[in-house]
Amino acid sequence: MHSPSDTQNETAPPFPDTLAPWRDDGVLHVNEIFYSIEGEGGRIGEPTTFVRLAHCNLRCAFCDTRFQHFRLMSVAAIRAAVREHPARWVCITGGEPLGQHIAPLARQLLQCGYRLHIETNGTISPPAELFELIEYWTVSPKRYPVASGYRRITELKYVVGECFSAAHVQAELAERVYLQPESLQPRYVDKALRILRLHPDWRLSCRLHQLLDLP
Ligand code: SF4
Repeated sequence: MHSPSDTQNETAPPFPDTLAPWRDDGVLHVNEIFYSIEGEGGRIGEPTTFVRLAHCNLRCAFCDTRFQHFRLMSVAAIRAAVREHPARWVCITGGEPLGQHIAPLARQLLQCGYRLHIETNGTISPPAELFELIEYWTVSPKRYPVASGYRRITELKYVVGECFSAAHVQAELAERVYLQPESLQPRYVDKALRILRLHPDWRLSCRLHQLLDLP
């Protein structure tokens, strides 16, 4: 997706790791950049280039992302990698993308004409400038409540597992609420459907890319 000359040394810190150091030099810890369709939430089905940043401040038991591996990439290198793909949308995800200084990347991608989406776990207050740059905000809380400072949340997407309760949902923060059964296990699908009977404005989400065996 990007040429080796665009990157710096690849490093894999021992697990567990923490968030990347906050850098002002336009270099980010990137886990992977790939093209697929958006498989979850309100943008489901839309072709999207995913910029997955490395590191996360949480350790969710169900997490299937190997976010600790990274390579250092400049904003220019990331932009070049994104431009190899035909999608109009770019989703900045992780790991936890708000653990790094992503405003310079978002600004450059926006200037290139991309529509920007971010998916965050909602534990880190976003810098205000990001709300001018990023159009679509998915907050998928893994800790409650959501951190302060979210001027806009397009969708709150909750993983419905054993510990999830409808009382955790901060519906007033977002335009839409999605419930996503953990690992699509039937008992969690049932649980989500039961909750939806009580909250008909909320919606069910799944992981379409997993069902279709896409990246
Ligand atoms: S917040 Fe997301 S990326 Fe981080 S450990 Fe949990 S599921 Fe994985």
